[in-house]
Amino acid sequence: MFDICVLGSLNMDLVINVERIPSIGETILAKDFKKFPGGKGANQAVASARLGSNVVMLGCIGKDDNGCILIDNLKRDNINTRYIKVEEKMPTGIALITVDSKGNNIISVYPGANMAVDLSYVEGLKEVFKNSKIIISQFETPVDATLKAFEFAKKEGKTTILNPAPAKKIDKDLISLSDIIIPNETETELITGINPKDEKDIKRAGEFLIKQGAKYVVITLGERGAAIISKENFVLVNAYKVDAVDTTAAGDSFIGAMASYLSKKDLNFNTLYGAVKFANKVSAITVTKIGAQSSLPYLKEVFERFG
Ligand code: ATP
Repeated sequence: MFDICVLGSLNMDLVINVERIPSIGETILAKDFKKFPGGKGANQAVASARLGSNVVMLGCIGKDDNGCILIDNLKRDNINTRYIKVEEKMPTGIALITVDSKGNNIISVYPGANMAVDLSYVEGLKEVFKNSKIIISQFETPVDATLKAFEFAKKEGKTTILNPAPAKKIDKDLISLSDIIIPNETETELITGINPKDEKDIKRAGEFLIKQGAKYVVITLGERGAAIISKENFVLVNAYKVDAVDTTAAGDSFIGAMASYLSKKDLNFNTLYGAVKFANKVSAITVTKIGAQSSLPYLKEVFERFG
C-alpha cells in the first residue's frame, strides 16, 4: 500500500550561471553549469518521501543518462520507481535555466518523454491507484492522462489532489474529479479571472472552483501563507516568518507536505487545516535554502525547527 502516488513530470534542470542574461543573437561565456533533478511531479514526490511517506512515482523518462540519474535520485529517497515508463524515442524532459548574477532567470522547458504519459500507460496502472491513498497530479504531463487517473482513483474512493501548474484553464470534468485543487496566486488568476489580492477576492476565487465541483480549494499566497475554501468555510492560514533566500520549490514542498499529512487522516475541513499548517512549516524551511530538491526538508528538521 502506498501513502501517496504522484503522476507527473520528471525533468533534468540544466542550470547555467552567467553575469547577465544574453540578448538575442549574443553568446556569453558562463561562470558555472550544474545539473539538478527536477520536474514538479518528482519534486512533490521527494517532498512527501522526506516527510516519511511511502511514495510511488508515475511518469516517463527517455532511455538516456539523464533518465538514469533521475531514477537513482528518487531511489535515494526510497521512492518506488518501478512503474516509471522508459520511452525509447524521446529524451528525458529538460529545463534550460539561465541565471544572472542578480538571481534573475530565463527558463525554457522541453517536456520530451513527459509527453508520453498517455491513456494506455495510465490504464495499465489501475492496481497502483487502487493501492494508493492519495493521487497527486500537475499540468507538466498530458491532462487526458490525469483525467483518466483521477477517474480510476475516485471510483476506488481515493483522495485526488490537483496542482494546476504551469497555469492553464482546468476542464470542468477534471475540477469535479479533484478533492483538493491547489493553485498559487498567478494560477488562481488565470483559472478564475480573479486576482487573489485580498481576503474578499481570495474567497471569491476559491468559490469559483467550488461551484464547478471541487470539494476543497487551497490557494497558496507566498509569504502571506495559504487560504482554504470549501462550500461552507473559508480560512486564511498565515505563513511562518522566516528570512527567505530562494522560493524555488516552495509550492512543491507545500503540496508534498499537505499530502503527507493527509495520508494519515480522513479528509475534512479540520484535517485540511492541520495539513495546511504543517505545509506552511515545511515550505517556510524550503524558502530559507537555495535550490529545488536540495531545499526540501526531512521530517526531523521540521520537528527541530517548529516542534
Ligand atoms: P514556487 O513557484 O516558487 O515554487 P509557488 O508560487 O507555487 O512557489 P507560493 O504560493 O509562492 O507557491 O508558496 C507556497 C508556500 O510556501 C506558501 O503558501 C507559504 O507557506 C510558503 N512560502 C512562500 N514564500 C514564503 C516566504 N517568503 N516566507 C514564508 N513562507 C513562504
